[in-house]
Amino acid sequence: MNFSLKCKICNKSEIKLIKKFKKKNKGENLFGLENKKNYSRSLYACECGHYYNIHKYSKFLEKVYKKNYSNYSHKNIEKKFEKIRKNKKKSSNLKRVNFLEKKIKKNSQVLDVGSGFGIFPFEMVKCGFKMDCIESDRNMINFLKSKFLNLVSNDIKKIKKIKKKYDLITFNKVLEHFNLSEIKKILRLYKSLLKKDGKIYIEVPDSAACKDGYNRQEFFLEHYNIFSLKSLNMFLKKLKFKVVYLNSIYEINKKYTIRAIIK
Ligand SMILES: [Zn+2]
Repeated sequence: MNFSLKCKICNKSEIKLIKKFKKKNKGENLFGLENKKNYSRSLYACECGHYYNIHKYSKFLEKVYKKNYSNYSHKNIEKKFEKIRKNKKKSSNLKRVNFLEKKIKKNSQVLDVGSGFGIFPFEMVKCGFKMDCIESDRNMINFLKSKFLNLVSNDIKKIKKIKKKYDLITFNKVLEHFNLSEIKKILRLYKSLLKKDGKIYIEVPDSAACKDGYNRQEFFLEHYNIFSLKSLNMFLKKLKFKVVYLNSIYEINKKYTIRAIIK
């Protein structure tokens, strides 16, 4: 296999093979790869707490994101949207909105990157924030538009046409779907869309989930990088960001998650 065994984040330790996966985990979507004879991916870990999912399906996943990541028809999206939205007690989206409400001013101009079902931007609008969205899944794009959410790009890596500047740019469970050099490019790119005091909010799966085993969603196929508090902090500092908030949370939906605010 053609990759360096040194951890690309701390540059200190060799990464070690933790587990090889040959089949689907419970709740995991392999997008049809499970029907292929030689499906295989390897989970590696470094002493800094960072995990790497190493496999040869990145081109395949890229296509999936563009075409049918959601695998839902418009009607089903609407149903799921309402179901999640009504279950307020269990909403990790609402918890996130509550958290951000305390961190930024009302009327702030916010850009949500990778909006998915749009529950987060939808609730943010209700709280008085001005929201723009970026989403690449065709079904989701049409759905977001039907909820009167403002789409400014359908490709995370293409933002040249965006002329606005933002108080806050949010990446909720998005960056783990990219390799490290792509994450670097993406964060640098979006930094250029920030207002003078603007900030970036990041949510990624937390590798602390390993205490409950490796068959969990935090370590699923499409997460190339699973950060630890330590590795995320190191990574962001290397990119010359100032880390103004960094914390691990165990979410109401039982996900181990890291939250960070940087500028
Ligand atoms: Zn490391």
